[in-house]
Amino acid sequence: MENQSTSRRDFIKTGGKAGLAAGLSLTVLQTIAKENKSFFKPGKSDTPFSQQPLPYAYGALEPSIDAMTMEIHYTKHAAAYAKNLAEACAAENVNTQSARLEDVLMNISKYSGKMRNNGGGHYNHELFWKSMAAPNSTVLQGELKTAIEQNFNSVDAFKTQFADAGKGRFGSGWAWLVMANDKKLVIGSTPNQDNPLMDISDLKGFPVLGLDVWEHAYYLKYQNKRPDYIAAWWNVVNWDFISQRFESI
Ligand code: MN
Repeated sequence: MENQSTSRRDFIKTGGKAGLAAGLSLTVLQTIAKENKSFFKPGKSDTPFSQQPLPYAYGALEPSIDAMTMEIHYTKHAAAYAKNLAEACAAENVNTQSARLEDVLMNISKYSGKMRNNGGGHYNHELFWKSMAAPNSTVLQGELKTAIEQNFNSVDAFKTQFADAGKGRFGSGWAWLVMANDKKLVIGSTPNQDNPLMDISDLKGFPVLGLDVWEHAYYLKYQNKRPDYIAAWWNVVNWDFISQRFESI
């Protein structure tokens, strides 16, 4: 099923004379590589490799996610990924002032396991924090809602499939809504701190929305009940941010 807004974006992207003459249609990952896009500021090229300030207080997501979980998650787990990423960049000659994290991830097979775990960990968590907001403070609407309905039949069916991806991820990892290279939305999961930008990932594309299903993300409040955490998490998804992200690509 063709998404008209996607077609419009395609036309804008490839509508120049050169694009029309060559009949070019870039894949999503080619677009990310070519346009220097970064999720930190869509459309701009700055890509901080360091941990950014949390955009809300630790308790802002309660009752879905408790303040202590957020504080430990941000100040210990995520901070460690950023610190270890800095070490890996220093050791492997990645200039964090000029390089883009996306480019490192898209070529992650050329780097160490430390870069893979911590580059992914840093990107995934920076995205995760921005993907959340106070409970029920935003609404899924507009182009993203239309695309979700076209790809998954309904918002409920999308949420069920996404939750199943999170519940079904054995051990630690992430559930994802991804814009695949053909610009269709797909749901999947990755192990550990891998993400869909990585060249080694089975699930490939632009990560639109990601959910951390590591136990450290929910264990204090939910213990073994990952499905309850996922169900409560929907209330704190920042649909405004996710829509901007979807429309930016
Ligand atoms: Mn985490």
